[in-house]
Amino acid sequence: MEIEIFLAEEEKRKVPNFEELSFGKIFTPHMFIMKYERNKGWHSPQIKPLSNIELHPAAIVLHYSQSVFEGLKAYYGIDGKIRFFRIWDHIARLNRSAERLCIPQIDPDFVFRAIKTLVSIDKEWIPKKKGAALYIRPLIFATQPTLGLKVSCEYLFVIILSPVGAYYKEGFNPVKIYVTTEYIRACPGGTGEVKTGGNYAASLKAQELAHKKGYTQVLWLDAKERKYVEEVGSMNIFFYFENELITPALTGSILPGVTRDSVLKLVPKLGIPAKERKISIDEVIEGIKNNTLKECFGTGTAAVISPVGEICYKDKSYIINNGDTGELTRMLFDYITGIQYGEKEDIFNWTVTLED
Ligand SMILES: *Cc1c(COP(=O)(O)O)cnc(C)c1O
Repeated sequence: MEIEIFLAEEEKRKVPNFEELSFGKIFTPHMFIMKYERNKGWHSPQIKPLSNIELHPAAIVLHYSQSVFEGLKAYYGIDGKIRFFRIWDHIARLNRSAERLCIPQIDPDFVFRAIKTLVSIDKEWIPKKKGAALYIRPLIFATQPTLGLKVSCEYLFVIILSPVGAYYKEGFNPVKIYVTTEYIRACPGGTGEVKTGGNYAASLKAQELAHKKGYTQVLWLDAKERKYVEEVGSMNIFFYFENELITPALTGSILPGVTRDSVLKLVPKLGIPAKERKISIDEVIEGIKNNTLKECFGTGTAAVISPVGEICYKDKSYIINNGDTGELTRMLFDYITGIQYGEKEDIFNWTVTLED
């Protein structure tokens, strides 16, 4: 399929000053867009100036949330090369999410080409500062206008790009997380393991409550017993006990993070055994109390590694590692970002450069 390209006016393509970049507030001047119709398949791919999308008010996505998305980044390396981090894993997950939501698959090679072409056109918008990057947001949503609850016959696949700043302004800032026992994020057989809008809509209430109490993120427990740790808002979670790194096993209601997988593959190289298993909130709290839990951190594309300094459970607050960033947490952050910015050898072949 040929991608038709319409460039934005010169004025719109001027790169602004990237001094104070936050997350996902500014966008590059171009977007990718492609249609699906049941009898035509995916067709008419275009790259065009970023613009609003017109939808019929009965479009299925607006009522029944038939939509999926991804989040990945392109980094400007110290050698001037632009690197995508584990892009094939993100494309594969986009199709897995689509499958769960009855959305038609898209050829991974074509998605790769669409992302590469779009990023090439807006490559001046990739911030050059270490820590900053170009966030890539592919999304697919159902556009057929009908109030009947059914699988849509029509979709749009869109890719937008957003230059994002270093997640940490003054180095690492450990976050405070709030364990909710009242709400759940995902249940067995549900959609917790895929990136679909409804999961996030359902999590807002608990997030608001956590914010009101002074916490940055929610830590979710399992839906059945409210006993086992699952994950944090938009991050997977790790606990470093004495000499072992533990993360909850993927049971179907946890999002299988690419960063999570990167940490699991990296730690054996650092001589630390890692285990995926069920871990109860009681075991975590016990570990903090008797000082066997040394460090705790979250993982996700946005922050890469995010130290956790405090956990609130049943209205009691517990401080981890004096509220400071631990040694392993920092080491993993440095290692992964080192690979992303081309400073460290990419021993796992995780990066693909724009020129590849
Ligand atoms: C995206 C996401 C993650 C992190 O996944 P990465 O692939 O590492 O970015 C974790 N949990 C949830 C709920 C997510 O949506």
